[in-house]
Amino acid sequence: MSRYWSELARGLSPYVPGEQPQIPSLVKLNTNESPFGPSPRALEAVQAAAADTLRLYPDPQSTRLREVLADYHRVAPEQVFVGNGSDEVLAHAFAGLLKQPRPLLFPDVTYSFYPVYCRLLGIAHETVPLDAEMRVRPADYLGRGGAIIIANPNAPTGIALSRAEIERLVSERADAPVVIDEAYVDFGAETAIPLIHDHPNLLVVQTLSKSRALAGLRVGYAIGDQGLIEGLTRVKDSFNSYPLGRPAQAGAIAAIQDEAYFQQTRATIIDNRERLTASLIRLGFEVLPSSANFVFARHPDHAGQALSAALRERAVLVRHFSAPRVSEFLRITIGSQPELDRLTEALAEILATRAPG
Ligand SMILES: *Cc1c(COP(=O)(O)O)cnc(C)c1O
Repeated sequence: MSRYWSELARGLSPYVPGEQPQIPSLVKLNTNESPFGPSPRALEAVQAAAADTLRLYPDPQSTRLREVLADYHRVAPEQVFVGNGSDEVLAHAFAGLLKQPRPLLFPDVTYSFYPVYCRLLGIAHETVPLDAEMRVRPADYLGRGGAIIIANPNAPTGIALSRAEIERLVSERADAPVVIDEAYVDFGAETAIPLIHDHPNLLVVQTLSKSRALAGLRVGYAIGDQGLIEGLTRVKDSFNSYPLGRPAQAGAIAAIQDEAYFQQTRATIIDNRERLTASLIRLGFEVLPSSANFVFARHPDHAGQALSAALRERAVLVRHFSAPRVSEFLRITIGSQPELDRLTEALAEILATRAPG
């Protein structure tokens, strides 16, 4: 705290990202990064972009990248918005779309950045409880509130709604913008993108950080009706006209074009997830059905906090949240098979030696 802080800075309660510590031979399963490198073609493109042209500003509209994304998702370039990670795209959506006279609705258990943006931007919000199985119940978002944001699959539960459920929600709530945050959609959920043609209130947000293994490049995007995209662009051009540098634009284009690498890495992560789920169940865990690159699991006899600390002593990092309803759980990123073997070995050892509690 400094006396020079503005009233805004004083009132913030910032998001706390998963830690990035320097521990030798660490098994890092706490921030949902990919265990694989990015597409080699993306790395080549980033390197080629590190040239004399870096003295010039990049294309402020990321035209070529938006064309490539439009092609990939079978929409028009005017229906695509790109930003510096989907976090920035989401921030612009909060400012440009989700701030409405009636309170914004989102689940009580979800991506913890949402309430942070509400604080920053002065957006009134109401949280909607997940049901007893930790599922989002779309019916609870009807006949009330203003705009809606839902992560699908939800984080940190990993549970997905079907496209049909999203469609019902966006049609019954045609009075308000609905943002679907699909950061994890490529690991087994149905994207809502095809619905944008019939639903001008739907904005779908995706990222290259997870399924394209490019968290370090910072590229995210939104797809929706041209009117929504123009709203986002107005906010962007009032904040930072050049959110994506030349290497980011070039790397993102190459990553989207490397379909074979994408399919192969995401299939491996899905296989590893199914194997990890089976191992955790064998160890006595309850594991929520995940469509993401992580699982959310709890042990009936051992507190999440204690397990997370005991894993950390064995140089295995997972994410633990102390918030209500989720503090018994561990969120475990789907790593490589050797990483997951180290995790399950460490857990077996902990469960064999620790008294319950
Ligand atoms: C990781 C994540 C994001 C942010 O991703 P970036 O594109 O890296 O900013 C957004 N939403 C959810 C639910 C996430 O888990």
